[in-house]
Amino acid sequence: MLMNNNEVILLKYGEIVLKGANRHSFETVMIRELRRKAEKCGSFDISYNQSTVFIRPLPGTTEEQFNSMYEAAGRTFGFNAFCRAAVFEKSVEGLRHGIREYIVPKLAGKGSFKCESKRADKSFPLGSPEISAEAGGLILSELDRIRVDVHSPDAVVDIEVRGDGIYLHIGQEKGAGGIPVGTGGRGLSLLSGGIDSPVASFMMAKRGMKIEYIHFDSFPYTSEQALDKVVTLARILTDYTGPVFLHAVSLTEIQESLRASCNEEYFTLLLRRFMMTISERIARNFHCSALITGESLGQVASQTLEAINVTDSAASLPVFRPCIGLDKEEIVRTARKIGTFDTSILPYEDCCTVFTPRHPKTRPSLEKVLAEQAKVDFPGLCEKAMVTVRDFGLK
Ligand code: ATP
Ligand code: MG
Repeated sequence: MLMNNNEVILLKYGEIVLKGANRHSFETVMIRELRRKAEKCGSFDISYNQSTVFIRPLPGTTEEQFNSMYEAAGRTFGFNAFCRAAVFEKSVEGLRHGIREYIVPKLAGKGSFKCESKRADKSFPLGSPEISAEAGGLILSELDRIRVDVHSPDAVVDIEVRGDGIYLHIGQEKGAGGIPVGTGGRGLSLLSGGIDSPVASFMMAKRGMKIEYIHFDSFPYTSEQALDKVVTLARILTDYTGPVFLHAVSLTEIQESLRASCNEEYFTLLLRRFMMTISERIARNFHCSALITGESLGQVASQTLEAINVTDSAASLPVFRPCIGLDKEEIVRTARKIGTFDTSILPYEDCCTVFTPRHPKTRPSLEKVLAEQAKVDFPGLCEKAMVTVRDFGLK
């Protein structure tokens, strides 16, 4: 079905309205990301003015294309709110026509409403209160059972008088928030197939970080499907992160060496130290200045403060752990919201579940861990793992 051609998508800026002189650079990044998404959805014109982005469908756009652009817009960081709106001629007659044609049918069946008007164009003959009164009066005369309720209305009719027309919409949805991806540096996210690390990656992307991923596999102990699952997770997240690279590294030889030479209680900690050191090397190769993990304090043995200290000391880049203070339930809620949960719970093994110690150390001392680590050729094994890297470009 073809679009009603005066409908547009409006996106309202979030915290970037607080940015001073460099606000323009944030706008440029946001618009670039929306244009990239628009290319996938159809043909749209995108512009911005007064803390609002306007996405206009070009002639021939279908309802489905418009809807997919609308969804994509809601997953773009930098915006607090978004809505569908329709544009009408900037005159009192245009206002009346728009209310009758676009708003009244949407209010049918609602019990109450209120009008909120903004007049960015001061040359318009009516002031904001008069615009609301005009629109409200018309709605009351067109619909029998509806009443005005300024405190808790069923629907809010927004009327924005702008330079090029009157924009009408009913309410708006909460946007993705955050700041535009690409304005907060680059981070390498350690992506397992679990629930937590996709959420951690999402949270850092929300703060503007451009994400790159590293995943550790243990073929043949882990399967090709386990890697596919991680690729799927990274791909789901591209709605938020934009295009990404995923680097897959094999830990098989490292795990076999640990099993052959080290005390089982230290397996997980040593494995995590290998992960951090290799991640740091990849991060530096790809110009990332931070590592990101999905750890949450106390969730498992390797996430006690002592264990985190032991892992942290294997890398010198800052390690961001945005889930550190979240409960599992809060992490799951976000995973569901961003669409990664159902994939994360697919039952494929992860390298950490291969050779899991029966009694992992929960309060390790770095000294003892380093003594265990000295039983294998740490630098040599890291070097060899670097040769196993496979890169995937995802968009
Ligand atoms: P998740 O739900 O993200 O898998 P988890 O609660 O299972 O986390 P761990 O297995 O201890 O916790 O892993 C802690 C963090 O280490 C993960 O959140 C992830 O960032 C990283 N990590 C673990 N396994 C891998 C892996 N195979 N590849 C890449 N990163 C990993
Ligand atoms: Mg895990």
